Parts: sequence; structure tokens; C-alpha cells
Amino acid sequence: MTNTDEILSIKNIYKVFGSHPAEAMQLVEAGFGKKEVFEKTGQVIGVFDATFSVKRGEIFVIMGLSGSGKSTMVRLFNRLIEPTSGKIYLNGREITGLTDKELLDVRRKEMGMVFQSFALMPHMSVLENTAFGLEIAGVNESERQRRAKEALQQVGLSGQEHSYPHQLSGGMQQRVGLARALANDPTILLMDEAFSALDPLIRSEMQGELIKLQAEQKRTIIFISHDIEEAIRIGHRIAIMEGGRVIQIGTPQELISQPANDYVRTFFKGFDSSKILKAGDLARLDPDSTCHVEAPKSFKPGIGFGYLLNDQGQLVSVVDDSSTTHYSQHEQQPVYLDTPLHEVLSIAATLPYPVPVLDRNGSLKGTLSKNQLLQTLGSH
Ligand code: ADP
Ligand code: MG
Repeated sequence: MTNTDEILSIKNIYKVFGSHPAEAMQLVEAGFGKKEVFEKTGQVIGVFDATFSVKRGEIFVIMGLSGSGKSTMVRLFNRLIEPTSGKIYLNGREITGLTDKELLDVRRKEMGMVFQSFALMPHMSVLENTAFGLEIAGVNESERQRRAKEALQQVGLSGQEHSYPHQLSGGMQQRVGLARALANDPTILLMDEAFSALDPLIRSEMQGELIKLQAEQKRTIIFISHDIEEAIRIGHRIAIMEGGRVIQIGTPQELISQPANDYVRTFFKGFDSSKILKAGDLARLDPDSTCHVEAPKSFKPGIGFGYLLNDQGQLVSVVDDSSTTHYSQHEQQPVYLDTPLHEVLSIAATLPYPVPVLDRNGSLKGTLSKNQLLQTLGSH
């Protein structure tokens, strides 16, 4: 482990639930999948050969249908669930090799967890609930109070220190849950469907606050969700799980523009991808369709249009493939790599040739046809 960008790294992790994990693993090694292993042995594979890394300071979302293994995965990270096989590294240190005492220390100091059920103690005040983890960790009273108050302030609950959980709304109770995790100042915050039980408006508000908090603190957050809108809104990268396996990991843009299979595609059905896709996510450059403006070539028949570039690679004009018609670029509205797709659509509609996509220096980075646009936007 030398890559310091990676805070958490897991290698070939399996979790088998049941009393005969070794038998299940033998079948896995013989090439059997989750379903066959269950049929033959009755053992349930919760996580199946997961290998990936989470980067320092990112919000990493784990998405998947119910039963796909998300909760199992996140509990493997702090070994609330012991992996059947495989290795887990935190900051380059192997978690899977720690003694019980070392592990307890890691859980207290490095990993904070927020659950869907707020899991507050009803007879304890907001302040006591927030300081609870610190008390267990042996932090002294005044330090506990200071850190708990600070955490409550971060989640917008200053002034509520002496309330009791039953006096708070669901959203406020979850803020306490979040404050309790933050009070420990964990290296990684694990959130398992933490907002799933909240009303839509409150949920959206909490998402916004989490994004803000993360931007300020640059804390690594691993967030589990089964809701694609939530995943896209808060995730820098998203891992999609199906049947215990991690099927694909990518930015929201990558998952939308290049879904690995139909399962991934299904999540984006009904999602308006033009809201988050940018021209650069779809543009591709065909070298056969470009040439230097002062050394015109005859383009391959059928290529459609040629893009003439200057010494700097900047787009000067577009010609049809017989080079008879020139389209000057001067009066065209330029499309850049970061131009939102819905803006590109209206520009594409006015051009006879695929839209040239430029970087901020005006260099041609790729083109986008009307067909490509419609296919991408229509396929979800
Ligand atoms: P998710 O959080 O994505 O809904 P889980 O991680 O809870 O999924 O579950 C993944 C799979 O593992 C499911 O098939 C579930 O039934 C099974 N599973 C989870 N926990 C246990 C357990 N303690 N014993 C047996 N099977 C379990
Ligand atoms: Mg779950």
C-alpha cells in the first residue's frame, strides 16, 4: 500500500453467512456463484469478492437494491462483521490483522457510524447522547462536553443540548446521531441509509448539510443508499452492488454514460441525465475526421464532416466530407467540455454537423452527434 490517496482499501473480500463458510468458499473457488452456493450448502454469501479503494476526502456512495450486500459491506469495514476471506486496509494498515484491543481503538478513533434508526438513548439528553461515544472511549468530562457541543453546533443543534430525544423531530434526532459520530472526529464516517427514514423535505435538507459539512471538513464519508437521486446528489463516486458483488464503480456521469449492465441502467430509468451530464462525458474524438487547416486532406467517404484545426489544435472551421461547404466557427456558440447536456441539445439542433466540443483554449476534444445525444438522453 503506497497510494496515500487511498484511505480504505479492500482486497478480495468475501462474507459468508452460515455455519459452514469453508464449504461455501470451496465451491466459490471451484467457480460457483452466490445462487448455486446457496442451493448446494444453504450458506448465504453477503459480499462476493469485493476489491476497491475509497479515496481520502471523498463521499463514496454504495448503492444497490435491498439485500444486495450494502450493510454487510459497510460493517466489514470496521469489522462489526468479520470477513470470511480477504483483506482490509485503513491508511495502509491491515485492519483484518488487528487484535481485539487494537480493533476497538480503530473503531473508537477512526470510524464513526450513523445508522438509519437513530439509536439514541431515550433517557439521555441530546448533549449526553452526543458525548456517549466519547465517554466509552474514556475522554474526560470537560473535554467530552466541549467536543459534543462543537459537534452539535456543526449539525445545527446548538441550544438543544438539554432536550430529550422524544422532544425532537425525526430529522433533529438524526442530527444528534450525526453529531455523536462527528464528536469522535473519525477519519471515516460510515452512514448506513442514514437519511432513508426521513421525510423527503427533511431528507433533502440533510443531504445539503452533509455536502456542506464534507466540503468544510474534507472528511471521508462512506454513504449507503438505495436511492439514485440521493446517490447522485451527494456521491463523488458511486459503487453499485448486486447480489453481493460490486458491479461498477464510477462518478455519476460515468455510470450514466457507460452503465456496465442492465441492472446499473435500471437505476437511472426515469432520471433526467441531462441534469448532470456534461458535453465532455459523451464527446469522442475520431482522428480521421480532423486535419490541419493548411494541409487539407480528402476525408474518407462517409465520414460526414471534417474538422479543420490550427497549430494549437484549435478548431477553425468545419467542412463537409467533400470539402465543398465550409462552416465558419466564428458565429457559432461554442460548446465546452463542461457545458451541460441540456444546453448542448438546443445548439445541436441548429447545426448540420456533430457539435464540436472544445476545451477552454478552443482546442477540439471531441464531437457529439444529435443521434448520440438523443440515444443517451432517451435511454434512461
Ligand atoms: P442490504 O443492506 O443491501 O439490504 P444486507 O447486507 O443486509 O443487504 O444483506 C445481504 C445479504 O446477506 C442478504 O441476502 C441477507 O439476507 C444476507 N444476510 C445479511 N445479514 C445476515 C445474517 N446475519 N445472517 C444470514 N444472512 C444475512
Ligand atoms: Mg442495509
